[in-house]
Amino acid sequence: MIARILCLCLAFAPFVHAASPSLVIIDAGHGGKDSGGTGHGLVEKSLTLDTARRLQNKLTQAGVRNVMLRTSDVFIDLDDRVAMANRFAQRDAVLVSIHFNAVSSGGPHGTETFFWRPDATALAARIQRNVARATGFTDIAINRRRLRLTRNPNLPAVLVEGAFMTNARDARKLAAPATREAIAEGITRGILEVRRHGETGIRRVPEIRSPLSRPSDPPDGGKRMRITY
Ligand SMILES: [Zn+2]
Repeated sequence: MIARILCLCLAFAPFVHAASPSLVIIDAGHGGKDSGGTGHGLVEKSLTLDTARRLQNKLTQAGVRNVMLRTSDVFIDLDDRVAMANRFAQRDAVLVSIHFNAVSSGGPHGTETFFWRPDATALAARIQRNVARATGFTDIAINRRRLRLTRNPNLPAVLVEGAFMTNARDARKLAAPATREAIAEGITRGILEVRRHGETGIRRVPEIRSPLSRPSDPPDGGKRMRITY
């Protein structure tokens, strides 16, 4: 009986997939001893947790099931985050990791979204577009990059870099709770768009065979490919 149910599920997989994602795994970047980046008095681990909580509220209000990988100021290793996310891999889940950029120069500004798997292209593009629209931050691009949180999970995963804490204008906006609320709203709209429209109108990137991303990888994650959408 179990085998028959399994077969039916596989046979109807394309139809089941149309309503995806049915579960959103929310990852607030950094935490605990790992503060992440800083800039203009902002600390990344606090901004990510605040934005993640707002995202959780909005998804719940929209009727989208969700789970947070951290709900307080604790350190979780990246590989442990991947392992936690993978527990939901069979449940039509996606992973959304929230981060904020910090670089040595004050020039770079705006929103960018990273992904690796071809089946995360639409999620990345729709989130990126909606976050930029909702916040007014510069729409940099979606970037295909082999990161531990984009390459290693066995499910579609995106990493949103909401804005640059090291840019004075971005930082000033980020300091306002309304801006973090707008980021959460943009991510929610992107996810709802994926549920409604899937990959329609989005060019899927090709599959690339590559090893899992490791802690010893260069900090810039190797080759970065900017994708227009
Ligand atoms: Zn980060």
